[in-house]
Amino acid sequence: MDTDWRARAAALTIEGRAFIDGRYVDAARSFDTINPATRQRLARIADCGEAEIDAAVAAARRAFDGWAARSPAARKNVLLRFAALLREHADELALLESLDTGKPVRHALGVDLAAAAYALQWCAEAIDKVGGEVAPVDPKLLGLVTREPVGVVAAVVPWNFPLLMASWKFAPALAAGNAVVLKPSEKSPLTAIRIAALAQAAGVPDGVFNVVPGGGDAGRLLALHGDVDCISFTGSTATGRQIMQCAAQSNLKRVWLELGGKSPNIVLADCPDLHAAARAAADGVFFNQGEMCSAGSRVLVQREIYPAFVDALIVASRAYRPGDPLEPATQMGAIVDESQYRRVLGFIDAARAESTLLAGGNAVLAETGYFIEPTIFACEPAHRIARDEVFGPVCSVIVFDTLDEAIAIANDSDYGLAAAVWTRDLSTAHLAARRLRAGTVWVNCYEEGGDQNLPFGGYRQSGNGRDKSLHALEKYTELKSTLIKLHD
Ligand code: NAD
Repeated sequence: MDTDWRARAAALTIEGRAFIDGRYVDAARSFDTINPATRQRLARIADCGEAEIDAAVAAARRAFDGWAARSPAARKNVLLRFAALLREHADELALLESLDTGKPVRHALGVDLAAAAYALQWCAEAIDKVGGEVAPVDPKLLGLVTREPVGVVAAVVPWNFPLLMASWKFAPALAAGNAVVLKPSEKSPLTAIRIAALAQAAGVPDGVFNVVPGGGDAGRLLALHGDVDCISFTGSTATGRQIMQCAAQSNLKRVWLELGGKSPNIVLADCPDLHAAARAAADGVFFNQGEMCSAGSRVLVQREIYPAFVDALIVASRAYRPGDPLEPATQMGAIVDESQYRRVLGFIDAARAESTLLAGGNAVLAETGYFIEPTIFACEPAHRIARDEVFGPVCSVIVFDTLDEAIAIANDSDYGLAAAVWTRDLSTAHLAARRLRAGTVWVNCYEEGGDQNLPFGGYRQSGNGRDKSLHALEKYTELKSTLIKLHD
C-alpha cells in the first residue's frame, strides 16, 4: 500500500519539548528545527540549559536504583514493549526523521526505523541471557565476577541516523539497568523527543529515560556534569576530543566515543564482479546523502581495471539523483541543513583546484532546499578531499598498482572506522583484512548487513569502545570482583 506521505506530513502534530522525569516540559530557551528539503520551519524545540540538564540528571539518579534492581527479565519485557511501540509508530517516526534530516522517507522507514526497533529488541532479548563468571581461584575461596550498571548514562548523538544512533546507546544502557539522559542533535531532535512518550507507554519508569534537546552547550553540560557516570557519544572527532577534556575536568566519567571516518574501499583487479563492486561503492558513499560515518569515501582502484571501474561508478552514481524525500522513489534526499550544505559545497569548490572532477559537483533544486549531486573526484592520496571527512555525497577515487600500496594508502589516515576489499582470492582477502587498521572490514561487499551481532566502532581517532553486539554491554556496566572465604 502506498502511503501518502505529504498528506501525513501535513496532519502531523510535532512535539518539541524536553522529556524529564516522565513529563514533557518547556525549557527557558528554544530554537527552530527546519525541513532541509523545503527550508520550512517544522517546530519550536526546547533548548535545554543548565536547569533542564540538572533536572534530567537528578531524575535519572533518583530512578536508577529502582530500575537497576529489577530482574533482567523484567527489564526485557518493558523494552520489548518499547520496541513493539517503535514498530507500531514506524510510519510516524520515519516521517519525522525524513522531515527533520532530509533523508528519503523510504530509507527512514526501511533502514533507520527497522534497525532501531531491532537494536532495542536485540538488547532486550540478550539481557537475561548474559551472566557473570566464577573465577578459578583457590578452592578455599569463591571468586565471583559480576557486572553492574554504571548508573546515569548520558547519550549524545548526531543527526545522520538520529534514532538509530541513539538506539545503539540507549538500548544496551537501559537493558543493563542504567538510567539514560539522551541529547539528540539540534539538527534532528524530533524522533528522540517523540519516543520518550513511547518508552513511558511501554512501562519505562519515570526518570529512567529522559530526552534533553539542545545544542553543543547541552552536550557540554552533560560531559561536565558531576553526577553523570558515563557519557556515550557519537559525532565528530573534534567534539569527541572536547568531551574527553570535559570528563577529565570533572568527575572522570566513563567516555565512549564513536567518531568520524574516511573509509577506504579497495577494489582489486580480480574483484568478482566489477559492476556489482561499482554499484556497492556508489551506495557505500552516496547512501544517506553521504552523511555516514562509515562512508566508503576513498575508493582505491587497481590500475588494470581503473578506466572500466570509474565508468561503472559514474553510471551507478546516477541512481542517486537528489529528489523529494517524501517521494517513495527518491534515493537521495537533502543535506541536513544550510551549514552542512555550505560546508560540503566548500569542500567541492576547494577540490576543483586540486583534484579532477569526474561527475556531479553542483547544488541542485536550490530553489527548494539543500540538495547536492553525487560527486566523484579523481585524486592523489594526499589531496585534501581524499583525507578530510566531508560527510556529504562526495567520493574520491585513487588509482594504485599493488596490494601493498593500497594497504599503505588505506592505513594512512587519522581515522580507522571501516574498510573494504574486493577480490576473488580468499587468502588475499584474509591477509588484507588483517592488515587494514579499521574496526570493520567488509570483503566483496560494502555496508553489508548491519547485523546487530557485530560490534561497530573505530580504531585510532574514529573512537573507542564498540556499539552493537554483546560487547556494547561492556560500556554500560562496571565489573565487580567479589571474593568470599569459605569455612571448612
Ligand atoms: P557533532 O560532533 O557536531 O555533534 C554531535 C553531537 O554532539 C550533537 O548532539 C551536538 O549537539 C553535540 N555537541 C556539539 N558540541 C558539543 C560539545 N562541545 N560537547 C558535547 N556535545 C557537543 O557531529 P555531527 O555533525 O552531529 O555528526 C557528524 C559526525 O558524526 C561525523 O564526524 C560522523 O563521522 C560522526 N558519526 C560517527 C558515527 C560512528 O558510529 N562512528 C556514526 C554517525 C556519525
